[in-house]
Amino acid sequence: MPTFIPRLVLMQRAALNYPLGQHLMRRFNQEGIEVVFYDRRIPSFPHRSFRAGFLFSKRTMVVTLWKRGVFQTCRPSAHYQLPLVSGCPGLCEYCYLNTNLGRRPFVKVYVNLEDIFHQARQYVRQRRPQTTIFEGAATSDPVAVEGWTGSLKNAVQFFAGLKDAYFRFVTKYTDVEGLLGIEHRGKTEIRFSLNSDYIVETFEKAAPRIDSRLKAARKVWEAGYPLGFLIGPIFAFEGWRREYERLLAAIRDYLPEDATFTFELITHRFTSRAKKIIQEAYPGTEVPMDERERRFRYGQFGYGKYVYPPEVMEELQEFFYARIEELFPHARILYFV
Ligand code: SF4
Repeated sequence: MPTFIPRLVLMQRAALNYPLGQHLMRRFNQEGIEVVFYDRRIPSFPHRSFRAGFLFSKRTMVVTLWKRGVFQTCRPSAHYQLPLVSGCPGLCEYCYLNTNLGRRPFVKVYVNLEDIFHQARQYVRQRRPQTTIFEGAATSDPVAVEGWTGSLKNAVQFFAGLKDAYFRFVTKYTDVEGLLGIEHRGKTEIRFSLNSDYIVETFEKAAPRIDSRLKAARKVWEAGYPLGFLIGPIFAFEGWRREYERLLAAIRDYLPEDATFTFELITHRFTSRAKKIIQEAYPGTEVPMDERERRFRYGQFGYGKYVYPPEVMEELQEFFYARIEELFPHARILYFV
């Protein structure tokens, strides 16, 4: 049974014209999950508060068609987003999707995979002889619904057979069984998003525990996938050194000494819009968002964000670089931001 069980499914009728739509419909019937059909617009449901509507959307799966026609770019981690899923059932209070998906953060899955792969193929052709990289988790955690859709499995197999293209995605979820025995030819990189136990317990309310994520990481490494760890958002809370030291030690315990993998290190940052939404969705949240303790910086998309001041950034960076170099001589740090 997948980790995420939707309370309600909103199914676009046209999705039933696709094998994935039919497959999902059969599964929902088997599991006794309520399905409401719609034709054009996702139906609205009245809620007594912003929070109630937000939580309702997080537990609702929308099965629909990808219609945008073009992929969003995805700098710097890839060239394009691969739109298999949008949204995530996780309740991480700091989540960046709080800004992007706003008031109705439904978990949307797209059933017209052939159209999506066709579009990916076009981009790869246009960019040849350069390589094109696709990111599968830019607006979602796609593993959270993989147990239902199998879309990542399809994407991994698709990219295994596509020259000059690579695929990557990041996850906190652990439903990776379907990805283990399939042909990937080392062309899909799977990264696991990790944090200290304190941060996971305090802010990541609906995501699997760290040891489960590390077990899943070990499995995908054994299956020969290129592996990465994204540590983030890194918070400079009281006791952070001890906590992050423990996390690095846990990674050490779960993977063999000669394993090669990458690290991406992302410190916490927030925008004014995200702060407002987070405070409405999670009243009383303890996510540190005091502007006076941060430095304001304009981001690449034109809006400003609050990051840690330079002295804190330096301390964090020094710690992570020193400890990772010592504990993981075969690992590579891709960036620290
Ligand atoms: Fe956001 Fe990732 Fe948490 Fe999902 S698992 S809520 S995408 S941070």
